[in-house]
Amino acid sequence: MEIKNAEFWTSIGSASGLKDFKLDEIAFVGRSNAGKSSLINAITGKRKLAVTSSLPGRTRLINYFKINDSFFFVDLPGYGYARASKVDQAKWQQLIETYLENTNHLKCAFVLMDIRHLPSDLDKMMIKYLYFKQIPFKVLATKADKLSRAQYTKQTSLIANALSLGKDDVIAVSADKKINLDLILNNIDSFMEAK
Ligand code: GDP
Repeated sequence: MEIKNAEFWTSIGSASGLKDFKLDEIAFVGRSNAGKSSLINAITGKRKLAVTSSLPGRTRLINYFKINDSFFFVDLPGYGYARASKVDQAKWQQLIETYLENTNHLKCAFVLMDIRHLPSDLDKMMIKYLYFKQIPFKVLATKADKLSRAQYTKQTSLIANALSLGKDDVIAVSADKKINLDLILNNIDSFMEAK
């Protein structure tokens, strides 16, 4: 698929504020600082669409971006934000869970993890949750440009092993060097076609 048009639609900050916008959704989730905003900007070709970490405000909300006037990218709050209080962390966790429990239009989720690290407990929980809920997903191992090709191939399979996933379930990507962004778009196509 080609992204011709991407626009910020709305932000939602509490579980009670969640709404059904009646369009298909593709969710992006991951630990804070995993590179979610950068990746959304890179695949939409809009440098400032999702706000990057320098402005943490919006990263605590669920942000909807309307793509090609026909479906949404749903940017879920980054979990595990080191400087956040336990209460805030629990609140974002609750927001993510309520969203995942209640959405009727989610076609797939992309779970972002920094390729240089093995998955955290929160990452593992997220994968288990998606699996249990039968939500199709792929892991995007971000910032692949920070490693050589040989290193990132190895690291991708270590991440897949740590999560008990197949190697095709983890894709090494880079927002900065535009590595494998086409593969993300191809995956979106297949997930959107699946019933
Ligand atoms: P978010 O908190 O998940 O939205 O993460 P950001 O997109 O704000 O990125 C966190 C940090 O990682 C920033 O300093 C980015 O510049 C950096 N980053 C994100 N994507 C890449 C990438 O593809 N390559 C490199 N080298 N750095 C990246």
